[in-house]
Amino acid sequence: MAMITKIKSNVWRFSFSSFGSYVYLIKLKDKNILIDTGSPENIVELENDLKKLNLSAEDINIVILTHNHWDHIGGITLFLNAEFYASKKDFGENLKDIHKLNIPEFKIIDTPGHSKGGICILYNDILFSGDTLFNRGTIGRTDLPGSSEKEMKESLEKLSKIKYKILCPGHGN
Ligand SMILES: [Zn+2]
Repeated sequence: MAMITKIKSNVWRFSFSSFGSYVYLIKLKDKNILIDTGSPENIVELENDLKKLNLSAEDINIVILTHNHWDHIGGITLFLNAEFYASKKDFGENLKDIHKLNIPEFKIIDTPGHSKGGICILYNDILFSGDTLFNRGTIGRTDLPGSSEKEMKESLEKLSKIKYKILCPGHGN
């Protein structure tokens, strides 16, 4: 369902009427950051959602992609002023290395399993978990190219040791 959900005073979640990942907006003092961009079908809604928060696509400074699947990267063409960060294991040299992202409040956790270069992002007590971990303990598919059940197990173990209060996954119910 198409909706803007406020998660914290500076964090919002966008969901769309047609299939695509959730998109998260984090407003820091001097930067607007998006996590994932939905699917190509979500582009118009995504732009409208930003507008409702008095932002335009040009106001987004940083886009972080949790992994390289079409339903998460569909909106990347919108963000002409943004720097794109993701794992080199999924994107090669095309984007900036997520481990060089210089935002002290963001902790990047490598979580391969659903894809080779899957990442999660810990921001204070929020864990953005991409397609690694969903609500109610369900997990991402491991039967896709680049997936690995073994790596997924190890990634979930890693996440189980991380302290967070709010899970922000790549998809909902
Ligand atoms: Zn995926």
